[in-house]
Amino acid sequence: MALTVLMNAGPWLPVPPPGYGGIENVVATLVPELRRLGVRVVLASVADSTLPVDELLSVFPQGQFAALQKPYNQVMGIAHAHLNAVVRALRERDDIDLVHDHVEAVGLAVLSAMGPGARPALHTLHWDLGKHPDLYGYVDGGDRVRVNGVSAAQLARAPRALRDHAVGHVHLATPLAVGADRRPTGEKADHLVILGRITPGKGQHLGARLAHEAGFDLVLAGPVGPYRRPEELATAGPEADQNPDVRYWREQVAPLVDGVRVRWIGTVAGADRDELVGRARASLFPLCWEEPGGTAVIESLALGTPVLAVGRGCLPELVEHGRTGLLAEDGDALADLVPAVARLDARECRREASRRFTPATMAERYVELYERVRRLPATAAADGDRTDGGGRR
Ligand code: UDP
Repeated sequence: MALTVLMNAGPWLPVPPPGYGGIENVVATLVPELRRLGVRVVLASVADSTLPVDELLSVFPQGQFAALQKPYNQVMGIAHAHLNAVVRALRERDDIDLVHDHVEAVGLAVLSAMGPGARPALHTLHWDLGKHPDLYGYVDGGDRVRVNGVSAAQLARAPRALRDHAVGHVHLATPLAVGADRRPTGEKADHLVILGRITPGKGQHLGARLAHEAGFDLVLAGPVGPYRRPEELATAGPEADQNPDVRYWREQVAPLVDGVRVRWIGTVAGADRDELVGRARASLFPLCWEEPGGTAVIESLALGTPVLAVGRGCLPELVEHGRTGLLAEDGDALADLVPAVARLDARECRREASRRFTPATMAERYVELYERVRRLPATAAADGDRTDGGGRR
């Protein structure tokens, strides 16, 4: 396919990321499949990104993620400096057909501000769309900037101005889903796991409380703000408390982490992550927010581990209650489901993942959206996707 896409992954982490990194993982999963389909990819990221691409654009030598905990007035220039380089590339060169942007808020605003003569752009909304109401409530990308969600539930809650620019949703994918239906099930251990950023929306405090009350072993894996390991957080200076996730950890989660019933092992990556999740009896998602896309949910299915979750956000789209997981109305109801979730069939989880969540499936869907965004006149962007929650209302 003769199509060149500028894939804007942003300045926060390299692609692929060293461990945690939801958006960068999505980009790392999507790009190889797009290139297999013949799409040329110019990646806008940081200079130490190692993903094979046709060209790499960068401003920063390394990921700027750690800066996110500093006060806004010290770090607000970072995303803008990165976008400045993207805009310069779009102005100076004529080989780019479309921008696929993943930079929260700033990407959407800057691309929209480029006006009617600019290259078409698709901005993927990776977030809870209750965020940024002042931007999402009034954004106007005209004919040239369209958005897509990562689940139907996410877009259904989007403000009208955003939905007017929506071309639908694309579920997330994982390389672990490739051939998942052919992988044998390994031995299960006794623990449940919560894999993800330690942050109030992911509900680690609820999970830890349930583990003590219902009597199951729980492993928490993931970073607390920029701190990837317990030792790093333990030796952090007083500035650490400026980070709301650090405060959440210290006030609501850490008192329940006894190192026996509930353990925090920091960020896990690669084979360690796969083994931790694959051997768990279930992945627990005691959600306190509307989970928008749920990469860790589909990874769990691909690794043959059923999902035990509060059925909020994208969860009902990804998990079939009674077959690939169990969904509860709220956090308290999760405890009763622990014995039953362990009896679900790992093969069903892996089969579902290999059917729905492979990188090839995601890439084909994005190529459809790229074509649609390039062809669309101002008024008809959403017509093809009314049924899945992404359409114009
Ligand atoms: N992740 C990881 N190691 C960790 C914690 C998380 O590799 O210790 C990965 C996880 O496997 C998933 C991503 O980070 O690929 C988190 O994406 P998700 O959509 O679940 O959550 P987000 O943080 O984007 O809300």
